[in-house]
Amino acid sequence: MLKFTSKVIEVFDETPDTRTIRFEVDPSFSFKPGQFVMINADVKVNGEKKIIKRAYSISSSPLKKEHIDLTVKTYETGLVSKRLYFIKKDEKMEISGPFGHFIFDENIHKHIALIGAGSGITPLMCMMRYIQDKNLDNIEVDIIYSSKTPDDIIFREEFLKNSKRNIKINLTITRPAQNNSWKLTGRIDEQMLRHCIKEINSPYYYIAGPTPMVEETNKLLKQIGVSEEKIKLERFGANA
Ligand SMILES: Cc1cc2nc3c(=O)[nH]c(=O)nc-3n(C[C@H](O)[C@H](O)[C@H](O)COP(=O)(O)OP(=O)(O)OC[C@H]3O[C@@H](n4cnc5c(N)ncnc54)[C@H](O)[C@@H]3O)c2cc1C
Repeated sequence: MLKFTSKVIEVFDETPDTRTIRFEVDPSFSFKPGQFVMINADVKVNGEKKIIKRAYSISSSPLKKEHIDLTVKTYETGLVSKRLYFIKKDEKMEISGPFGHFIFDENIHKHIALIGAGSGITPLMCMMRYIQDKNLDNIEVDIIYSSKTPDDIIFREEFLKNSKRNIKINLTITRPAQNNSWKLTGRIDEQMLRHCIKEINSPYYYIAGPTPMVEETNKLLKQIGVSEEKIKLERFGANA
C-alpha cells in the first residue's frame, strides 16, 4: 500500500451527475482489476477545513501505467463526492491504496458475470478494460448494468461500441420513458439473469453498487443455486 499526493490531469463529464477524474500516478503504482483507493479530501464542514476519507474504485485499466481514473457520482450534500465533482485540472489530492479483494484473476476466472448498478459500474469497467487491453479473448464476460434512464448510463458510448464475441453487454433501464425504445428495461431479477446469462451456474459473479442492490442480487443468485464461492461483492453504500 502506498500513500502519495497526486495531480489531476483531466476531468471528463460522464452523465449529468457523474465525472471521471484522471490522476497522475508514478508508473510503479500497480493495482489489480477491481481494487479501490482511499481519497483524503480537504473539505469544508460548517466553515471549518477538514480531511475526510472515502473509497473510490479505479475505473481505468491497470495496464495504463501513468494515471488512474476515478469515476465519481456526486450528491447534493455529499462531502467528498461534491469536492471531487468540482475539482480542477492541476489540483492535488492525497491518495492511498490500492485496497480490496474484489479482484478479477484471469488465471482462475474463465467466465465472469459483471453485475452493477449506478456508480457500481466503476470496478467492473476496470475489469472490462483490462480484459480488452490484454486481449483476453478466451475469457467469457457477461455484463448486466442497471441505470435509471439512458442518460444515467456511465460509459454509455464505450459500452455501445465494445460488445465483442466474448464480451456481452446488457444495459437495463429501470425508469423507461413512456415512449421507451430501449431494448432492456426493469430491475435485475431472476428472469433477467437467466435471459442474459446462458449457463447461470457457470460464471464467477462480481456484483457492485448500492448495498441493497448488491445484497438482493447475492440472495437471488444463492436461491438459484450459484455457490457462495463464485460470488464476490462490493458494497458502495446506501444508494450509490
Ligand atoms: C469500496 C468502495 C468503492 C467505492 N467506489 C465508488 C466509485 O467508484 N464511485 C462513486 O461515486 N462512489 C464510490 N463509492 C462511494 C463513496 O465512497 C462515497 O460513499 C460517496 O462518494 C459519497 O460520499 P460523500 O462524502 O460525497 O457523501 P457523505 O458526505 O458521506 O454523505 C452526505 C450526504 O450525501 C448524501 N449521500 C451520500 N451518499 C449517498 C448515496 N450513496 N446515495 C444518496 N445520497 C447520498 C446523503 O444525503 C448523505 O447524508 C465507493 C464506496 C466503497 C465502499
